[in-house]
Amino acid sequence: MKKMNCGELRDRLTRNADERHDPAKERHLEQCSACRTYAERLATARQLLRAHHGNVEPDAGFSSRVIARLPKSPTEALGWAAVRFLPATVALALVLVWFTFQATPQPTEAASATLAPTEDLLSWVIDPSGDEQ
Ligand SMILES: [Zn+2]
Repeated sequence: MKKMNCGELRDRLTRNADERHDPAKERHLEQCSACRTYAERLATARQLLRAHHGNVEPDAGFSSRVIARLPKSPTEALGWAAVRFLPATVALALVLVWFTFQATPQPTEAASATLAPTEDLLSWVIDPSGDEQ
């Protein structure tokens, strides 16, 4: 039988609160104290929510308000993500360039020969409008 990892277990716990008996889940919980803590906290949070907010019913317009606030197209959501992660991507590229030159000391001519593709990569990361494919 396939062994369940922490991510799979927590995903299953979060999605199926009332799932009764699952041997793979039980076996993982016996062996993993971090997931046992997660399961206990999740159960406590569910109990508290039921005790204090169990009688809350969404009004008639709730679902239409949620749908109205979702991104209109996948590119809208992707564009936001791309803008948000651009600084991290540029920083990662710079770190990789730095590690490359730290790890492999080379003669000056060879270094300038390897610099060109790196500059191309960086300008591609910074300016996605210059797509040449
Ligand atoms: Zn675990």
